Amino acid sequence: MLDYTEPENVALSGAAHSRAIGQELHSLIAELYPICRSLTGDGQRRTLDILRRHIDLTVHEVPSGTAVYDWAVPREWNIRGAYIKDAAGRKIVDFADSNLHVVGYSVPVRRRMPLAALQPHLFSLPDHPDWIPYRTSYYREDWGFCLSHRQRLEMKDGEYEVCIDSSLEDGAMSYGECFLAGERAEEILISCHICHPSLANDNLSGIAVATSLAKYLSTAPRRYSYRFLFTPGTIGSIAWLWRNEGRAGSIRAGLVLACLGDGGRFTYKKSRRSDALIDRAVPQALRDAGASYQTVEFSPYGYDERQFCSPGFNLPVGCLMRTPHGCFPEYHTSADNLDFVQPEHLAESFTRCREIVELLERNLTFVNLNPKCEPQLGKRGLYGSVGGAAGGRNRELALLWVLSGSDGDNSLLDIAERSGLPFRALADAAHDLDRHGLLKENP
Ligand code: ZN
Repeated sequence: MLDYTEPENVALSGAAHSRAIGQELHSLIAELYPICRSLTGDGQRRTLDILRRHIDLTVHEVPSGTAVYDWAVPREWNIRGAYIKDAAGRKIVDFADSNLHVVGYSVPVRRRMPLAALQPHLFSLPDHPDWIPYRTSYYREDWGFCLSHRQRLEMKDGEYEVCIDSSLEDGAMSYGECFLAGERAEEILISCHICHPSLANDNLSGIAVATSLAKYLSTAPRRYSYRFLFTPGTIGSIAWLWRNEGRAGSIRAGLVLACLGDGGRFTYKKSRRSDALIDRAVPQALRDAGASYQTVEFSPYGYDERQFCSPGFNLPVGCLMRTPHGCFPEYHTSADNLDFVQPEHLAESFTRCREIVELLERNLTFVNLNPKCEPQLGKRGLYGSVGGAAGGRNRELALLWVLSGSDGDNSLLDIAERSGLPFRALADAAHDLDRHGLLKENP
């Protein structure tokens, strides 16, 4: 039995430690933030190179044109610079100022045109006149610029020079994979998307939390094996599933991580199965932590859980977010920046993820070896000699619940749901009972 009760394995606690973790997560986000990422390209590779310094990451390259189920890996997109110059030759929009200024996957363009012809290629947000929107045109060849509405209104009629120094060529799509073998071949999948440019919450926060979780797990005891995927959205997970179809059956639980750096309450989106282990483990862990959260049902709209949960796979993969995509005004705009994600929220998200993993690791099923009437706990030193203390009473209740529930069928999570006691109290009780020879794991 893996010993999560030893002090060095117990939840990293304390405000100072939490602050340090939050700073570490935020620093990683700050380092990744300026990079122009997309579905493919060198921004992707630079991102994975940085993550590689923290975790043992294998980078895969899938050639452009590779057919993956109903899709094909797109041509590789790279961009060196882009601008709009006014009639006086002044750069009024410059990619060097923000990589959001160019519509992702814009084809190369260099031409002069009047404002009226340029307008259909411009995107801005009248409701948030100072923010730059984030737009892409992945699967339709097009080009465009995103700018603040204030900038756009200042553009006078006349001729403009537009230049997008990009390339769209046969190459590859990169994704990263970190595998941590455990005692069992059964896997826990953690996935996040890495295709967004300078956007912090969606989804550098997911990348940072996943990286820290992989780093933490690399030295933690592991019953399960863990697979971390850092893939471009949609096409990345589709390509991974296509290349690993035989492996998918080993996935016992999974989480897509996104939008974990804002101050909103947690949102857990269930897997398509809705009653999988992960669908019960996440709410239990959040409840036990006293976190504010909501649980939402699966829908085929969102992040890569759409692919993992497609009916041909139907994997037990849910999605953990704070405020969901599209539900915060800064979403897909320049306001989703380094100020929008805060170290304290990132640290909390990391801690909740670590607790979810701990729950999965400790969720064993036991058989009570003394099932005919209660064993006498007092003579084993398991029952407090002084009655009445609230903490002691909870511990005793946990012992009784574990003994009562351990008929070889109920897992500790089953017992936690039924008793209303925190999972960790039950797992600690099971650990003690196991040490005293009163339980046997039913694998
Ligand atoms: Zn997004």
